[in-house]
Amino acid sequence: MVKRRSFIRSGLAAALAVAAPYPYGQVLAGTRSASSLPTDIQAITGERQNVTLRRQDIVDLAARIRGRILLAGDDGYEEARQIINPSFDRRPALIVQATGAADVQAAVDFARDNQGLLLAVKCGGHSLSGKSTCDQGMMIDLSGFRGVRVEPHARRAWVAGGSLLGQLDHESMAHGLVTPMGTVSHTGAGGLITGGGFGRLARRWGLSLDNVRGVDMVTAAGSFLHASAEAHPDLFWGVRGGGGNFGVVTSFELELHPMERQVLGGAILYPIARAREVLALYGEVAAEAPDELQIDLLMVRPPGGAEGVAGFNVCYCGAPAQADRALAPLRQLGAAMVDRVQGVDYVALQRSGDSSDPRAEGSYTKGGFVEGFSPALIDALVTPFEAHPARSTVLFAQHSGGAINRVAADATAFPQRDVMANVLCFVNWRHGDDPSVHVDWIKAYWDGVEPHTAGFYVNDLEETHSTADIRANYRRNHERLVAVKNRYDSRNLFRLNANILPTA
Ligand code: FAD
Repeated sequence: MVKRRSFIRSGLAAALAVAAPYPYGQVLAGTRSASSLPTDIQAITGERQNVTLRRQDIVDLAARIRGRILLAGDDGYEEARQIINPSFDRRPALIVQATGAADVQAAVDFARDNQGLLLAVKCGGHSLSGKSTCDQGMMIDLSGFRGVRVEPHARRAWVAGGSLLGQLDHESMAHGLVTPMGTVSHTGAGGLITGGGFGRLARRWGLSLDNVRGVDMVTAAGSFLHASAEAHPDLFWGVRGGGGNFGVVTSFELELHPMERQVLGGAILYPIARAREVLALYGEVAAEAPDELQIDLLMVRPPGGAEGVAGFNVCYCGAPAQADRALAPLRQLGAAMVDRVQGVDYVALQRSGDSSDPRAEGSYTKGGFVEGFSPALIDALVTPFEAHPARSTVLFAQHSGGAINRVAADATAFPQRDVMANVLCFVNWRHGDDPSVHVDWIKAYWDGVEPHTAGFYVNDLEETHSTADIRANYRRNHERLVAVKNRYDSRNLFRLNANILPTA
């Protein structure tokens, strides 16, 4: 039996499962009392130098914020330091649980003024490379800073910097409005939007970042800035694709679009023995699909000899009368093992791939963009997929193209406007088990796939990506990103990300 968690990015559960309850949303508050502080604390800077944080400075920070400061041993520290992937078991020297932009400013000032403390910013905690937590530095935890306000007539939403995607889908759809977001509702808006934002509606209306009309940000100087096409346009350009490199976004202004709540969603699956045909068909159909059709590719091989599957996970958000015509090319392979594409509530579909216990399993992912599905790529993906380790191995391709690819490569900092899909291979394991067999298998598998890729999605940044990889990945936009970095974060306070090295 394939574990449900294995489908987490596939949304296959859209066709097979009931939506999980929305798990977050509480607002944290209350300051730390000065008497509860220990003596000075040892921490490290971004340059990995030791630094002593003075007790009085922490007392002053506590007095300046409305949220909480958590130190090791405090109630809530263990919970707050974690991110979704429990493999990143890191212990910040202090955690600032910000409740608003003023708290973020105070925390940034503190980090900067303490010799540039190593600084992590956590929103939804989904970072695949563990960049939203750190050892011995400061974490700014935005999970108490969530909220969405929709202005239906203006077709705008304002999203607080710590919000999760599900909040936005829920609030905007209540007005018959949407904007493209990712496919797992407990992913954070802060990381997803600043790095890209692929999902079920992106081929119709672009990446999440293409729908940003303005941001409020706290920069490394502690300045609170509004960036848009008119105000700080360089920063506005950079923050749409440059991730967390330039500061902390405290509010996103997003354009909304009218859409029927009912869409078509679900899976069409074949036995894995037909994987080559499935991948070849995907390459053809994904290239020609209408913007309203999102087709993700899926290939799963469960452990223990059970038969795997290969197929498509679809969302069609266009006119119902055109649906059969749009989907027909996907059904060319004849009778499927599973064909459950059906009318579904969009917000429920967006929650259908959620995990009820996201931290129960570790995971390891390799990924890269592809421009098409050549026979050589199909061979690299299918042939070694036979040799899987003990847990389910999942191959997943998130469909690009459509409106995403009609944006110029230099219109935002996100340059990969020419790709067909983002291909990911991942494996999960029960937290506590030795993952090396899984990790080694994925690495060896990916060695064969990587030559067929065209860069990677910065939101899928891996620990192994070097500065040179990041520079190459931003293509011609890198030089301009360096200029924005020099202007807004010349000392690289915000370095736990796909880091743009300042040169100033
Ligand atoms: P966090 O780990 O909290 O933050 C990641 C980084 O984002 C931080 O290091 C920081 O640099 C930056 N950051 C966070 N908040 C802010 C802020 N307010 N201001 C400035 N910088 C900030 N991607 C897609 O495009 N589509 C998908 O459908 C999709 N599904 C996913 C499903 C799962 C289960 C997972 C694990 C990942 C998925 N992703 C998807 C990838 C996702 O976009 C990235 O992991 C993204 O970084 C998650 O954002 P977060 O806020 O949850 O992450």
